[in-house]
Amino acid sequence: ASKEKCGKNPQFYNDSMMDRFQERLIIENALRKVVNQGGFKLFYQPKIQFDVVSSIEALIRWNDPTLGNVSPEIFIPIAEEMGIISKIDEWALLEACKQNKKWQDAHLLKVPISVNISAKNFQQDDLILWIEKALYESGLSPQYLKLEITESTFIKHPKQVVKMLHYIKSLGVQISIDDFGKGYSSFTHLLELPVDEIKIDKKLITGIDQNEKQELLAKSIIDLGHGLQLNIVAEGVENPNERDLLIQLGCDELQGYLFSFPLNPLEMKDFLYMNTKSQAKSFVNV
Ligand code: C2E
Ligand code: MG
Ligand code: MG
Ligand code: MG
Repeated sequence: ASKEKCGKNPQFYNDSMMDRFQERLIIENALRKVVNQGGFKLFYQPKIQFDVVSSIEALIRWNDPTLGNVSPEIFIPIAEEMGIISKIDEWALLEACKQNKKWQDAHLLKVPISVNISAKNFQQDDLILWIEKALYESGLSPQYLKLEITESTFIKHPKQVVKMLHYIKSLGVQISIDDFGKGYSSFTHLLELPVDEIKIDKKLITGIDQNEKQELLAKSIIDLGHGLQLNIVAEGVENPNERDLLIQLGCDELQGYLFSFPLNPLEMKDFLYMNTKSQAKSFVNV
C-alpha cells in the first residue's frame, strides 16, 4: 500500500485547509531546507520492450516530516521559480548514475537510466559539468544515461540549447523528448533537434484504444519518429487494451502502471529479480 501511495504521489494539501499564499511560503521554506540538507529520494519506473525491462526512469520523491509526500508536479515548478532547480537536477543526475552502476555491477541489469532535466537548467552551461561529474564519479558509461527534456526547453534560447544538446550527445549520452503531443508540439521542431527518442505524453495514451483520433495522432508520431530513426516510448499505459494497440502501432517501449508503479531501490531490486527469473523460466520452457 505504501508503494502505491508513493508511486502515485497524492497531493498533501487541500485548498480549503490553508490560504494559498501561506501554503506557498511553507513549501518554499521546507524546500530550501531539503535542498540544503538532502532528503530527496529517487524512485524508479521501468520501461518494457518484449516483456523485459529495456530502460528505467528516475523520478524524484520528497517526503516532508510535516507536509507528507509532496508531488514533483507541485514542487518542481516552485523550485524552478526559486532558482534551486539546479541543485535538485544536479543531485538527481549523480544519484541515478550511481544507482544504475550498482545494478550493473550486481548483474541485475544493463540498460539506460533516464533523468528528467528542467528546461531552466539549459539556460547555463553548468549542466554539462554536472553530467560529466555524474559519469565520472559513478563510473557509469555514457550510453547508459539518457536525459528527458520537454519542448519548453527550446523556447527561450533554441540555438544555445541545440548547441548544448550536440555537445551532450558527443559525450555519448542520449536525449529524449518527454511529454510529446501535450501542449504545442511541433513536428517541424523534431527535424532540427539532435534527439534519440520521443516519449508520447500520457494524455494521448490514456484511452487510446477507445478514441480513433488519439490513435491516428499517436500513429503519426510513431511513423514520423521511426522515419527519423527515433526510439518511441509510450508513457502512462494502464491497461492491456492500450498496450496491445500501442504494440500494434509499432511503439518500441511501454511504460505505465500496467507494468509497474515507480519503485524504491529495494522494490526495484525485487522487481528485476522476478523479471529475470520469469525470463529464465520462459527460456527453460521453450
Ligand atoms: P514525467 O517525466 O512525464 O513522468 C511521468 C509521470 O507520470 C510521473 O509522475 C509518473 O509517476 C507518472 N506515471 C507513470 N506511469 C503512469 C500511469 O500509468 N498513469 C498515470 N496517470 N501516471 C503515470 P511523477 O513521478 O509525479 O512526476 C511528475 C513530473 O515531475 C515528471 O513528469 C517530471 O516532469 C517531473 N520530475 C520528476 N522527477 C524529476 C527530477 O528529478 N527533475 C526534474 N526536473 N523533474 C522531475
Ligand atoms: Mg519523464
Ligand atoms: Mg512524461
Ligand atoms: Mg509529465
